[in-house]
Amino acid sequence: NETVSKNFIEQEIDRDLAEGVYNHVSTRFPPEPNGYLHIGHAKSILLNYGLAQEYNGTFHMRFDDTNPTKEKVEFVDSIKEDIRWLGADWKNHLYFASDYFNQMYEFAVKLIKKGKAYVCDLSPEEIREYRGTLTEPGKDSPYRNRSVKENLELFGAMKDGKYGDGEKVLRAKIDMASPNMNMRDPILYRVAHIPHHRTGDKWCIYPMYDFAHPLEDAIEGITHSICTLEFEDHRPLYDWVVKECEFEQPPRQIEFAKLYLTNVVTGKRYIKKLVEDHIVDGWDDPRLVSIAALRRRGFTPESIKMFIDMCGVSKSQSSVDYAMLDYCIREDLKLKRPRMLAVLDPIKLVIDNYPEDQVEYLDVPNNLENETLGSRKVPFGRELYIERNDFMEEPPKKYFRLFPGNEVRLMYAYFVKCVSFVKDEAGNVAEVHCTYDPETKSGGGFTGRKVKGTIHWVPVSDSIKAEVRLYENLVDEEKGVYNKEDGSLNLNPNSLTILKDCYVENNFDEEQSYDSFQFVRNGYFCIDAKDSKPDALVFNRIVPLKSSFKL
Ligand code: ATP
Ligand code: MG
Ligand code: MG
Repeated sequence: NETVSKNFIEQEIDRDLAEGVYNHVSTRFPPEPNGYLHIGHAKSILLNYGLAQEYNGTFHMRFDDTNPTKEKVEFVDSIKEDIRWLGADWKNHLYFASDYFNQMYEFAVKLIKKGKAYVCDLSPEEIREYRGTLTEPGKDSPYRNRSVKENLELFGAMKDGKYGDGEKVLRAKIDMASPNMNMRDPILYRVAHIPHHRTGDKWCIYPMYDFAHPLEDAIEGITHSICTLEFEDHRPLYDWVVKECEFEQPPRQIEFAKLYLTNVVTGKRYIKKLVEDHIVDGWDDPRLVSIAALRRRGFTPESIKMFIDMCGVSKSQSSVDYAMLDYCIREDLKLKRPRMLAVLDPIKLVIDNYPEDQVEYLDVPNNLENETLGSRKVPFGRELYIERNDFMEEPPKKYFRLFPGNEVRLMYAYFVKCVSFVKDEAGNVAEVHCTYDPETKSGGGFTGRKVKGTIHWVPVSDSIKAEVRLYENLVDEEKGVYNKEDGSLNLNPNSLTILKDCYVENNFDEEQSYDSFQFVRNGYFCIDAKDSKPDALVFNRIVPLKSSFKL
């Protein structure tokens, strides 16, 4: 039943359309260009874009750039790039709130003329004092009853730069005794002699968010203005603004719960500090959850959509496990990406009875679960690299990989039996010696005996050395994100492991059309877009193959 599975916002929209409140749907994503977008923003982007698509409506990309103190052009570009990457297409609906400064000013004048706004000379501290508390009503400002004429003159003088920052504000005349603090004559405009990144020095007064936002929505003809729960208390003011400014078809605000990830750092000031302290290598460090970081980590737009869909939309606050993101990217890459051979922590394996100069080209399927990805040739020879932990001198019970006397399958190739091993001066195993059985070639139908272990390998003669970066959570999950004593972060010292001597098979060039792969048995990996060079490859582990997460 389709109606049952609709979320509460869709149900509201259905009702609005049925009742004729609106005859179309128009949504928007309105970031302030003051930082990078993160996974939480992706929820808002995909929700708003998805609704516009579902109802055959329009989706607006709007920069909410009405506060010049915090905004930068650099963020405008990164935000656009991230939204495009997520696949939310705003078509020709790109807007900047600062383009409405003239109109906003005129609406403020309109409110003054209606006796609904006044210029107030109280200082910021006094305004706070007069506002009262949750249990006590506020007091009227002594400037509340200025005449329309005087208010128009003073507001014009504010605009013309006659006053310094904080000297005067324009306030809505609503109700100083309202139980909702937001309705106690909120500030609509303030003086700020700060240049704006788009309007330059044209304005020295700027509208406050609670005044600007409903106007932006209304001017653009937005129908459903979807925002997060902390704005629930601001809705009466939103409604007041669009009503008093007399829009014919006012937009309506609907709130939903923010997306939170358990044990994940999202606060801007914490990330800023991690960047400054060089604990992460920028806002796109693969351990972070900015959109740029997730992209660099190898997440796909599809995996993020899947994740956001699984999270659902609700009005109750909850926190989601990062493991669910892992699950989504694994699901997305499973059938789409080729498997490759890569050895992350190599030791050499020598097949003593394999002819010294012989090379065989084995036919290796690119993805056993998806035949359409085809197959490739991998050279096999006498000397191979295998994973260090696929050999043990003294194996524990149930260890089925290589140890002296044991036989395993080399993936796609032959059975090999360990006959001896060599240690280096430090006492570490340096070389494992085996013999192979030519009868046991993979695909040859050999049924004579079975082995319990299969291990992967790369040929020594024809593999590429690469750097591989493995990640764990940036924070210590046992301790939680924040230190209870001083509020600092509980960092996990093992969040990044750099392996510099990995070997990947040399079929890499042909696979360049992909930017991510499954390295058999080791997980999904992507080429690091920042640090990898054609002659010095760097891979990020997106996610290991297994997890404890179950649907
Ligand atoms: P932050 O402080 O984390 O950058 P913000 O609220 O300041 O968040 P804005 O640029 O103002 O970010 O937000 C743009 C849109 O993204 C808003 O509609 C906001 O509600 C939404 N948004 C921000 N964080 C989340 C989140 N964690 N989950 C869902 N939506 C979010
Ligand atoms: Mg923000
Ligand atoms: Mg904000």
